[in-house]
Amino acid sequence: MEFSTVLIDWYQKNKRNLPWRDTTDPYKIWISEIILQQTRVSQGLPYYHAFITQYPTISDLAMASEKDILILWQGLGYYSRARNLHEAAKNIHLYYHGIFPSDYSTILSLKGIGEYTAAAIASFAFKLPHPVLDGNVYRFISRLFGIEEPIDTNQGKKKIQHALGIIFDQSQPDIFNQAIMEFGALQCVPKKPACDRCAFSHQCIAYKNRKVDQLPYKRGRTKVVNTFHTYFFIRYKENTYIEQRTEGIWKNLYQFPMVESLKSSEDTICELSEYFTNNPKIKIIDSYTTKHLLSHRKIYATFYTINLNKRPLFLKNNIFEITMKAMGTKYPLSILIQNFMKRNTHD
Ligand code: SF4
Repeated sequence: MEFSTVLIDWYQKNKRNLPWRDTTDPYKIWISEIILQQTRVSQGLPYYHAFITQYPTISDLAMASEKDILILWQGLGYYSRARNLHEAAKNIHLYYHGIFPSDYSTILSLKGIGEYTAAAIASFAFKLPHPVLDGNVYRFISRLFGIEEPIDTNQGKKKIQHALGIIFDQSQPDIFNQAIMEFGALQCVPKKPACDRCAFSHQCIAYKNRKVDQLPYKRGRTKVVNTFHTYFFIRYKENTYIEQRTEGIWKNLYQFPMVESLKSSEDTICELSEYFTNNPKIKIIDSYTTKHLLSHRKIYATFYTINLNKRPLFLKNNIFEITMKAMGTKYPLSILIQNFMKRNTHD
């Protein structure tokens, strides 16, 4: 039987019921694909429903404020995805009358849409013959064809693309793409796949050569850099003080006044008094240190909880006063700050 027939048959019997599979609406497919980048399906599902409910059309999303979008995105991480989503929605609203473009190269030109997402939208929504290549497909193809070039090199990528081109079903790209991604996600899993129950075991080179556990190869992982954040959770009566980040992955999110460095510093707390112009009396109530791992960086975060005896005047004029209740409801926060607030309310 032809490869595609076996794969699609497997898919029909094993696929998960996910809401974005029942639609050909490119907007909904786009939202789901962006949410699912670096995010598990179970975690992304509630965010997908929340987005579609709050912003049912591209124009609704285009006209929303970035702050409201980031509030909805809180907890998902990789906030540039939300900012790019907004930017692309504004462009579609402005230049394409709110109608999602239906050709691959225009889709690819939108902010935050790479080759994988463009192929997913083009094939699922418009049945255009563009194969998708996500991490699950890379793994499955590298094992099936026994490709030993590292998949994070140009040569490895080219080999995988070529191999995928051989089995790709041009006549039904939408269902073929869904099926191959699902196969990688559910059957040809990273650890201990059930090869003895696999429909392709008779042709799988990695299985024949006992290399399933080794493939795919990767040349090298991103070097993780240590970073040290010191946050000042300053309290005056029921209020606290925050600032908006202007750069980095948490750009435009809000945080406590902070010092960031590449070296651990015991003296950072001394710098706090330099924040004020009117010398309030500083009382340190608590300090708490935690680790937060991002893909390329390990953050050692220390939070000082500080009570003040009078309303502070800040030297840095982007710091402003809010009620503690407004944290996370009116002002979007990174997961690191959210977790700290949760810990504080549970103490
Ligand atoms: S035999 Fe094993 S490694 Fe090969 S495609 Fe099937 S599940 Fe993946």
